[in-house]
Amino acid sequence: MSELPKVALVTGGSRGIGRACAERLAKDGFEVFLTYVSRPEEADKVVAAIEAAGGKAKAFKLDASDRDAVSAFFANEIKDKASLEVLVNNAGITKDGLIIRMKDEDWDRVIQVNLTGAFACLREASKIMVKQRQGRIVNIASVVGQMGNAGQANYVAAKAGLIGLTKSAARELAGRGITVNAVTPGFIQTDMTASLPEAIVSKMLESIPLGRLGGSEDIAAAVSFLAGPGAGYVTGQVLAVNGGMYM
Ligand code: NAP
Repeated sequence: MSELPKVALVTGGSRGIGRACAERLAKDGFEVFLTYVSRPEEADKVVAAIEAAGGKAKAFKLDASDRDAVSAFFANEIKDKASLEVLVNNAGITKDGLIIRMKDEDWDRVIQVNLTGAFACLREASKIMVKQRQGRIVNIASVVGQMGNAGQANYVAAKAGLIGLTKSAARELAGRGITVNAVTPGFIQTDMTASLPEAIVSKMLESIPLGRLGGSEDIAAAVSFLAGPGAGYVTGQVLAVNGGMYM
């Protein structure tokens, strides 16, 4: 029987931090499965870039917050077809606003994508990894989940929840050789942060001791470490990659 491909799954791997993680994990030798929700052309570009560099990748349309779709995806595309080595829960959105003006739908959607979506993928991945008796799960949270942020109560609650999920899952899954860690990016240059007004960016820069915004590759390097052979004894941790803005 042929050996199953060693797969790393990156949710929201079509742009930004997810794209950098997908490309880095492909370089590390994994076949990368990446998901997207609205922009297939961006996902196709990532697959093409990985293949051009000699790696293997496939893109799947999957809304991480749709629990039935997530279950079907794992059943149809991963179970018995791949050895799932790594899950990176990266898919995320913001819908910012002050608490007194925050609409129910903006609260709900941000929790659904950032927290419920990560839980749904983690639950399905765990079922497979428990049988394999190995696996690495990395949740992309945020510095604001550690420090709070005015105007982002929904997003901060989701990311703080993701840190709690990480620590609980680490305790539940450690006995089966599965590690679960979070990476908390600071202010990273991606589409998510591109529309912020110049004044906010300059103010933010003042609070970053290293004096620059981060790049997606800074986050990918941390994910690569947590997914790699050097991190086998690291679990339940929150690895801050934020230029020192919160210590
Ligand atoms: P981004 O550039 O906006 O990219 C978001 C990615 O997530 C895209 O690939 C998008 O796919 C996908 N996505 C959105 N909703 C999804 C859903 N429901 N299901 C599956 N995929 C979905 O974001 P980013 O800045 O790279 O952020 C990536 C992660 O890092 C997020 O979890 C974010 O909260 C976190 N983070 C970012 C920063 C920062 O400064 N940028 C800081 C801290 C934490 P489509 O293109 O198809 O829509």
